[in-house]
Amino acid sequence: MKIVINGIHANLRFSAAHMIPCHQFCGGIHGHSYHVDVHVEGERSGEFGFVVDFKKVKDLTRDICKNLDHKLLIPLNSNEIEFKNIEDSLEFSIGEKEYKIPAEDCSLLPLRSTSAEDMAEYFAEKLYNSLNEESDDKITSVQVCVNEGIGQGAYFER
Ligand SMILES: [Zn+2]
Repeated sequence: MKIVINGIHANLRFSAAHMIPCHQFCGGIHGHSYHVDVHVEGERSGEFGFVVDFKKVKDLTRDICKNLDHKLLIPLNSNEIEFKNIEDSLEFSIGEKEYKIPAEDCSLLPLRSTSAEDMAEYFAEKLYNSLNEESDDKITSVQVCVNEGIGQGAYFER
């Protein structure tokens, strides 16, 4: 069985800035109002016959969102970004462009890119691991759709 959580209605949202280095239109810093849909598949179990408690999934997803909210998302494993400093202030370059941004304004992510595709993978992996940690729930799959606003998103199944 599968439970389904709609990110708009359940308030699993964050607003953040990012860029897709070297992309013709998305290479400049720009923002999205993201929302995150989450599906969790597994066996019903426990006293209440839940797949997993909705609240648990929402709390974990909101924790991830909170770390990204009102930040510039930076993919630390990018092939295009050359980092010079990632301490108090983040200094990096992308081709000819030089950047210097306070570290507190950034969320550093262990990703190659902050595309919706990579963000969906990031959420799904984190949620899958958290939901299976110290839990009796029998979860077989976590599916996440990271939406860059209404009408376009990337879906990943872990
Ligand atoms: Zn974008």
